[in-house]
Amino acid sequence: MVVQIFAVGGYSEIGRNMTAIKVDDEVVICDMGIHLENYIRYTEDEDISRLTKEELTEQNAIPDISVIEGWRDKVKAIIPTHAHLDHIGAIPFLSDEFNAPIICTPFSAAVVNAILKDARMRIKNKILVLNPNSTYKLSENITIEFINITHSTPQTVMIAIHTKYGAIIYANDFKLDMEPTLGKKPDFARLKKLGDSGVLALIVDSTYAYDERKMPSESVAKQMLKDVLLGTDATGKIIFVTTFSSHLARLKSIIEFGKKLNRKIIFAGRSLAKYVKAGEETAIINFSKDVEMVSFGNKIPNRLRKIADSARGKYLIVVTGHQGEPKAVLSRIASGSMGFKLKPGDHVVFSCTTIPTETNRQNRRVLEDMLRKHKVRIFKDIHVSGHAAREDLRDLFNMVRPKNIIPAHGDLRMTTALKDLAEEMDYKNVYQIKEGECITIQK
Ligand SMILES: [Zn+2]
Repeated sequence: MVVQIFAVGGYSEIGRNMTAIKVDDEVVICDMGIHLENYIRYTEDEDISRLTKEELTEQNAIPDISVIEGWRDKVKAIIPTHAHLDHIGAIPFLSDEFNAPIICTPFSAAVVNAILKDARMRIKNKILVLNPNSTYKLSENITIEFINITHSTPQTVMIAIHTKYGAIIYANDFKLDMEPTLGKKPDFARLKKLGDSGVLALIVDSTYAYDERKMPSESVAKQMLKDVLLGTDATGKIIFVTTFSSHLARLKSIIEFGKKLNRKIIFAGRSLAKYVKAGEETAIINFSKDVEMVSFGNKIPNRLRKIADSARGKYLIVVTGHQGEPKAVLSRIASGSMGFKLKPGDHVVFSCTTIPTETNRQNRRVLEDMLRKHKVRIFKDIHVSGHAAREDLRDLFNMVRPKNIIPAHGDLRMTTALKDLAEEMDYKNVYQIKEGECITIQK
């Protein structure tokens, strides 16, 4: 027995990503995320510090770690790839189960700390910060490398686990963006070099493996935003924009165009404040000089009421609630419960797509119906995904030339599409595994 890869979460669904990789007698855990929809359905407004890991596991909101019970004492590190909740969100509930440090980039660390602080929770694990494009010697036999890669939140990395059997690359989530609008380009030279020295296994993001194209760059999303914000007439009308709070690159573009329009920019919502603060603490961005932050729900209605009718055309307000979440700021504005009245011709820009779950579709329908009643102008899908499509995946395979491929981060349709691509490229060792299953790779 040499290397074993255990699918703990995220192998037949989108969410609660977690993989355990055993090299001889040492285990590295990659990602520890929540299943967003199941988590929100269960937690509602509750104080999350009161929820037990048993309850959350029962609700399929966090990974079921009982499947790796026998490996528990062998875990040497917990390594999240980036700051999205489906990759870090279960840390407050599960990391304590392992006597191992959390190793992540400065931005991911700042977000983990913010979540813990928000929930007034503590964990025993030490958080070790490792910059993208650097390495950390975990033990005699394992060295961890963070390879800078592009995605939809800052400081996303691919993890290379260097062993005497070759490198194991964990690539969830990423896209190959040659024109990112924040942060560096992917390090192709490094990936090719890893390919040259022998990659034993690649565990890889299947989300858009069925989509036959190269995923467009974030600079394309920026152009789409520019088109809508600068290319339509919103004279005298208020502009609301909603997007992912963790997408600091997108927020940066929104600020740039807000300034060009000479509008006062306000960010309203708790999660926006959380990610912006983490970005500023780690010197990735400096939004505060251009943006007024209103983080607490109870302060937002007061701030909105201060906007005089004659001044509506002077504001661009970024709000939470792009998926139509009923308690987020945009839904509350649309329903009137913020005490702010939308007027005909006001602009509402959705810089996102609807994540295709039944709850989201329903929530968005309710939200859009409410918005239409106010006769506002709705601009939808001003967005480009942060996930690799089929042709990006092909490029990655050509660079790293892995001996074994394990499709991850997707449901059966997505992992099957990735398997098909790998087989089309003549890869023989493709392992489509489900949660609770483990594969053993002999050298
Ligand atoms: Zn992600």
